[in-house]
Amino acid sequence: MRPLSYTRPQSVNDAIAIVSANPSSSFLAGGTTEVDLVRLGVAHPDLLVDINELPLAELEEMPGGGLRIGALARMSDVARAQSVMERYPAMSEALLLGASEQLRNMASIGGNLRQRVRCPYFRDNVSPCNKREPGTGCSALEGLNRGHAILGTSEHCIATHPSDVAVALVAFDAVVRTVGPSGPREIAIEDFYLLPGDTPEAEHQLEHGELIAAIELPPLEVARGSLYLKVRDRQSYEFALVSVAAALEVREGVIADVRLALGGVGTKPWRARRAEAELVGAPATAAEFASAAALELEPADVREHNAFKVELAKRAIVRGLTSAMSGGAR
Ligand SMILES: Cc1cc2nc3c(=O)[nH]c(=O)nc-3n(C[C@H](O)[C@H](O)[C@H](O)COP(=O)(O)OP(=O)(O)OC[C@H]3O[C@@H](n4cnc5c(N)ncnc54)[C@H](O)[C@@H]3O)c2cc1C
Ligand code: SF4
Repeated sequence: MRPLSYTRPQSVNDAIAIVSANPSSSFLAGGTTEVDLVRLGVAHPDLLVDINELPLAELEEMPGGGLRIGALARMSDVARAQSVMERYPAMSEALLLGASEQLRNMASIGGNLRQRVRCPYFRDNVSPCNKREPGTGCSALEGLNRGHAILGTSEHCIATHPSDVAVALVAFDAVVRTVGPSGPREIAIEDFYLLPGDTPEAEHQLEHGELIAAIELPPLEVARGSLYLKVRDRQSYEFALVSVAAALEVREGVIADVRLALGGVGTKPWRARRAEAELVGAPATAAEFASAAALELEPADVREHNAFKVELAKRAIVRGLTSAMSGGAR
């Protein structure tokens, strides 16, 4: 038995001050990740700071046409918001294809961004794992690595980032707004996540006590025709083997704008910038999509059980872009 205290502050400043003052404390939103990890013994805070009283659950229109989503907005509410479904459909689909209805009703969008990896060695709390216990080694390198990453890997960690919605957010250049002990700041979502490199224990830029207040989506015409394709071992309640957020604007047969991001293959939500650069100005054909997909997957670093992801990702990219071009028909 480990003693665990709980508090429910009424203001953002109090929440930040309490967590900042105690290195063994954590924020608690929906609890669908944090409570699991505490039960498994992977996370061991001595104080949980429940942030559900804070006024951070609103969806608001931003001047100039963007959308601001409070960090405590529930996954199900964001997924079904008219503004999200119409203007950023890939985001709505990514949310609805994640977890289960019950979990989505509890889970917050801020907590989603900060969920931990699903690598079984990280969660079993006994195997060597550099992310859980830096310096102990990575059991996945020579172990069961079928679900692991092929892009952005290091010799210290190959776990994929599990969030679906973060993939859509990366495609749309979302911005994470935070408030912390050093004041407010905004972080481009692509920079928010860190590659494992030599420090796989650090997954994001936040300092201890820094609270995600909101996620902001810029106005983005091309996003209106976007979609999220998720390939997984079963049709529901499963994380992605490969996923694709895709949006495409084609003028007279030529690609004028494209957004492409991948999940299930990268150690962080993966913006497919090599493919995007190849596609802009090219004819919108399956052959061009395939060539851009091959370029994106060129640096893939495969292990014994996950080499299949290279071909799967290439096919998913072609299918995602083809579907986005034809108005979302899968
Ligand atoms: C069985 C199962 C299946 C799942 N399937 C999927 C899936 O297919 N796709 C997918 O994307 N996700 C999936 N998830 C993950 C789920 O989406 C996350 O658990 C959930 O979004 C976390 O949100 P929460 O509010 O419950 O966070 P919590 O569990 O409360 O917190 C998670 C972490 O975020 C921190 N935190 C929470 N809010 C903030 C904030 N505002 N600022 C700073 N830090 C904060 C907490 O301190 C904690 O470290 C699944 C989860 C489960 C249990
Ligand atoms: S892949 Fe990462 S999380 Fe999994 S065992 Fe290796 S270091 Fe740990």
